[in-house]
Amino acid sequence: MIPKVDEILADDRILDILKTSPRKIVIEAINEEIDKIRSLIQENEDENRIITELNELILNIINNCIAKNKFSLRRVVNATGVIIHTNLGRSLLNPDIIDNIMQISTNYSNLEFDIEKGKRGSRYSHLEKIISQITGGEAALVVNNNAAAVLLVLSTVAKDKNVIVSRGELIEIGGSFRIPEVMEQSGAILKEVGTTNKTHFEDYLNAIDDETSCIMKVHTSNYKILGFTSDVPVSELKKLKSDKILLIEDLGSGVLIDLSKYGISYEPTVSDSIKNGADIVTFSGDKLLGGPQAGIIVGKKELIDKMKKNPLTRALRVDKFTISALEATFRYYLDEATALSNVPTLSMIVKSIDDIEKQVLRVIDILKPKINSEEIIFDIVDDFSEVGGGSLPLEKINTKCLAIELLRGNIVDFERNLRNYEIPVISRIFKDRVLFDFRTIREDEEEIVIEAILNACKYI
Ligand SMILES: *Cc1c(COP(=O)(O)O)cnc(C)c1O
Repeated sequence: MIPKVDEILADDRILDILKTSPRKIVIEAINEEIDKIRSLIQENEDENRIITELNELILNIINNCIAKNKFSLRRVVNATGVIIHTNLGRSLLNPDIIDNIMQISTNYSNLEFDIEKGKRGSRYSHLEKIISQITGGEAALVVNNNAAAVLLVLSTVAKDKNVIVSRGELIEIGGSFRIPEVMEQSGAILKEVGTTNKTHFEDYLNAIDDETSCIMKVHTSNYKILGFTSDVPVSELKKLKSDKILLIEDLGSGVLIDLSKYGISYEPTVSDSIKNGADIVTFSGDKLLGGPQAGIIVGKKELIDKMKKNPLTRALRVDKFTISALEATFRYYLDEATALSNVPTLSMIVKSIDDIEKQVLRVIDILKPKINSEEIIFDIVDDFSEVGGGSLPLEKINTKCLAIELLRGNIVDFERNLRNYEIPVISRIFKDRVLFDFRTIREDEEEIVIEAILNACKYI
């Protein structure tokens, strides 16, 4: 009773799908749906539950094709309030940057060509000047991500040599970035000093020997040790520098503006680190900087030049999309106010609670008349947003959330339906309510959130 593939392919609706879907995809979907029927028969499933009716089979095939035609990597709405959400793509680019990226990616460019001299140039030249200008470093180099930056720095200046790091700074970031392991890969030898909670100047001083190549300070960006603690700032460690001993700082989040002016706790900026005496500073492009994924190395020209010659640089190099997005992002930083209003990560951090409240109230106003008030309750609640991305771990930024409570139906299913919406909306459940933090939802995304909620309501 199973319809033949030819018969299915002749159906008008399938012919329609074939106009927009590759034949390969359609055939695959047909075979999958037919296989499902076969295995049901093999499992002796109740005859009435096995689809042999052509109509129903066609509908399943069409849905299967629609699912197959969706990109695997696609946009979502981040309603979590975690601004630099590593699982949701970290920082967002300003759409104004896209034109630059499009020009570079759809046309030939001077990526490695010196237009004035008419000769071969360097891809790193495009960023060096602007990064130096903004951070105060002599020179700069950009690689694939900050993990790569740390690897390249250590492999260049500390291979087979000792690197002194405080035991309180031997961090793990995300899944697989661990300072001791990256060091091992680079060929540097880790020399731990101090204790988990306290490390003193003398600890560093006493650890220095003929094999010491550098002292490395790692910004504990994703956790804090509180209470009986002390560490030695770069401005002190500078006293230990010599011809042979360098001072390196892995800043991680790479903030370029002192955000303490905007009510966020002080986080050392890249230029502070350089000013305080670090020879080399490394940081991410897509954390507090708010650009594309990248690892940025800033510091002494002589050292950066050595890194450029390291064969690893070729393996870790950035492509033209990254360079064009990063150049455009850095340009915003030539003026602090421009950066705050144009770099989405920064705009979300400084977004006012009044603006957030207005958004929540506007959305509630639109939803209320469309929803059965005996099934669902809307509320506006106080909550906290997080910076995320392993930056400012203790920072709790006041925010307002839309809270949805169901009087009937299952809240877990409701949240799943929000995630399964055409444009998935990623919210969270707290105490039997779904919360939507509007700090990370743009005004132009409100409509999507409304549609996703209305859609989820259909299944209550
Ligand atoms: C995030 C972070 C890294 C890793 O940076 P990626 O860009 O994710 O590779 C390394 N060190 C510190 C201190 C960090 O915060």
